[in-house]
Amino acid sequence: MKKYLLTLLSVACFCISSQAQIDYYFPGEEFDSAIPSPQSYLGYEIGEWHTRYDRLVAYFEKLAEVSPMAELKTIGYTNQLRPLVVLVISKSDNIQNLENIRQNHIKLVDPNQNMPDVSGMPAIINLAYSVHGNEPSGGEASILTAYWLLASKSELAGEIRNNAVVMIDPAINPDGRDRHTNWANMHKGFPPVADPLDREHNEIWPSGRVNHYWFDLNRDWLPLAHVELQKKIEWYHSWYPNVVGDFHEMGTNSTYFFEPTKAFSSENPVVPRKNYEEINSKFAGYFAKALDEIGSLYWTKEVFDNSYPGYGSTYPDIQGGLGLVFEQGSSRGHIQASQRGDITFEFTIKNQLKTSIATMEAGVREREYMHRYLREFFQTAVSEANSSRTKSYVFGDLYDESRNRLFLKLLLDHKIKVYENTRDISLEGQQFQKGKSWVVPTEQPQYRMVRSMFEKVTEFADSVFYDASSWTMALAYGIPYAAQGTVTMGEQITALPDRVVEFPQDGKYVAYLVDWSDYFAPKLLHQLQEAGIHVETSAKEFTSNTITGEKEFPAGTLVIPTAFQKLDDSKLHEILKSASEKSGVPVFATTTGFAVKGIDLGSNNVSAIQVPKVIMLIGQGTSQYEAGEIWHLMDTKVGMPISKVDISLFGRVNLYDYNTLILPSGNFSALSISQIAHIKDWLNRGGTIISLRMASQWLQSQEIVKEEDLQLETVKDPDFVSFGNRRDFEGAKAIGGSIYKGKLDITHPLGFGYRSGEIPVYRNSTIFFKPSKDKYQTPVRYAENPLMGGYISPSNLEKIKQSASVLVSPVGNGRVIHFIDNPNFRGTWFGTNKLFFNAIFFGNKI
Ligand SMILES: [Zn+2]
Repeated sequence: MKKYLLTLLSVACFCISSQAQIDYYFPGEEFDSAIPSPQSYLGYEIGEWHTRYDRLVAYFEKLAEVSPMAELKTIGYTNQLRPLVVLVISKSDNIQNLENIRQNHIKLVDPNQNMPDVSGMPAIINLAYSVHGNEPSGGEASILTAYWLLASKSELAGEIRNNAVVMIDPAINPDGRDRHTNWANMHKGFPPVADPLDREHNEIWPSGRVNHYWFDLNRDWLPLAHVELQKKIEWYHSWYPNVVGDFHEMGTNSTYFFEPTKAFSSENPVVPRKNYEEINSKFAGYFAKALDEIGSLYWTKEVFDNSYPGYGSTYPDIQGGLGLVFEQGSSRGHIQASQRGDITFEFTIKNQLKTSIATMEAGVREREYMHRYLREFFQTAVSEANSSRTKSYVFGDLYDESRNRLFLKLLLDHKIKVYENTRDISLEGQQFQKGKSWVVPTEQPQYRMVRSMFEKVTEFADSVFYDASSWTMALAYGIPYAAQGTVTMGEQITALPDRVVEFPQDGKYVAYLVDWSDYFAPKLLHQLQEAGIHVETSAKEFTSNTITGEKEFPAGTLVIPTAFQKLDDSKLHEILKSASEKSGVPVFATTTGFAVKGIDLGSNNVSAIQVPKVIMLIGQGTSQYEAGEIWHLMDTKVGMPISKVDISLFGRVNLYDYNTLILPSGNFSALSISQIAHIKDWLNRGGTIISLRMASQWLQSQEIVKEEDLQLETVKDPDFVSFGNRRDFEGAKAIGGSIYKGKLDITHPLGFGYRSGEIPVYRNSTIFFKPSKDKYQTPVRYAENPLMGGYISPSNLEKIKQSASVLVSPVGNGRVIHFIDNPNFRGTWFGTNKLFFNAIFFGNKI
């Protein structure tokens, strides 16, 4: 390591001295020499290199070691086992006394507790950086912020240490950050190259923005699909910070952005107006002053979405704090040319440092006000709920305990109070059974999160959305639910109850049966197939006399005959038992193939399930998000490996080694004519392509399928629109992300495992396909009035009504399954995941 540092120093001959660094970032300030500066510890000036995450954490460890005013907490580990750390800084008395401070602070969020005396309570300030790994100025600024706060002899630093507990997350996405750090460092030139086309400024696929599974973690605060945010939210609810800074980067030609965001249209409907109108402007004054001091330009109020609760700057707004998004024009590398001249990495770091310090200054000066606001927030939540007509929501799926548990866990993770439902009720045509459903009363401190989970919003102040305009989590989970004007409830659920899955004793059976309705049934199936067990599926429903009584099984049920197996009965029993335990899916046994009702087990409607051999084409030109969602789904929900193959390697692919090809959205124009011919040949001989959104358009353009785009000009554009309105006018035609009611054919193999003919789907594109020319092959169409939540223009709504959500194009002996809406969106659409599992396991049955 020492040798490495020496080499760096000797090559980096243009490095400036330690004093120069202080002059650049902290002109005129004096520092405590007992605290090592970043330069002295790391061996280079901040901004000269991109700091590797392990070096950053090591520096924070050093600070915690040398200063009684700092403590480093590890709150979890990423997928690649990097520690997720929070550096806590405050005066040493506070550091000694953190647990008492925490307990006193969280009294503020519980309106039932006496209001504590806020005058002596420190502000809880969370500075969170680089959730997008390739927006590195934040992470570097975190190093300087920590150093300044601990070592500066200035009055302001002292005031903050005395009156705040500052919690620094140097990187919410360390795996992605290191991907970009290595990229920028490995391409650094001597002298550095500012040309935007230089390789340093243009990462390869996948970019450092995303985490291990290629997800955008700045959308995950609500879904909690990833360990980084699961840990962060757990930590969040132990502290409820008053202020959270969320530091980003934007295009190189931009200056700097801080809140307020655009009034109303980019703001969340459940957040009190006081947050936007009073508190935001109070804080903005501090940021403007800090950047004016160094003559840095900035902008506010114009755009930047602040509405979706899954953003790091919005979630705190729904938890009684103030979430603040900061955006710095990126140097994306060490120096890059822009319209205003060359932007250096140092310059971007300095701006983030200035607003970091200003956030702490504002947080401390507005400390008592923010404490009172925190209490007021949760108090008004309860009183708003009180005046709402909806008094509770009841939810629960009769047939899918796994999905119920996943949703229950989400609610509990967000600290929403959930109770047992004590009676069998029927609401809006849905049945909710005691023991299989739960009640969420609206009158609770987390009322605003309850709304975010259940409410369907279709009216908006604006028509331009940067991202989703709907995020009703109950719809994403496909959980039956209904609003009630009353509350009847049993015991509170404080933790996910243990799941007890009974399993038949070892015996002489004709077959084992597994209802495919359970979310994790594909996980069980994969384990069986991997163990070499022959599994069949029924295309029709039947009622079987099982050893535990008569049971009705829907289409898609797994049938595991004890005959035709290579394993003996007891080995089969053992593997099934283990698969049932690992997946949590119940297994039934029967001693007869004769059905009480419906088809018998030897029917021609029961057929073998092929073992999927799946390849997914990825790489430059394809959507890293969609590819990542599929990879994550198959890894974490099925445990099944799929081959992720770069398009540039397709020349080495023999498709006959696989039976399923997944094409995420993207441009596959890099494939040659002979490679496309190979795909067509394989498809004709029985292959299955699963294609998402834009990939379907590409297949269409190559005449691999011959479906029809929906061309419908229902509302004609006016002949003249002013140039200044161009962005808004065109923006209103986009579908940023909204939820629609689909009509599902549950007799189609893609509909196996579903009991209801209605399914909510998520759409964030304006790709419209007509229903399949084959009348049997549009398993998901749209309902007559399809909009369930979110914004859509009248003209697009008309197109949706006449188009298909999922359709199949038969091609020779093969088929292409088109998902025009994304069934795996953000790792949170548990309700539509099964359509995708069905495509993988039952694709060849279509
Ligand atoms: Zn960002």
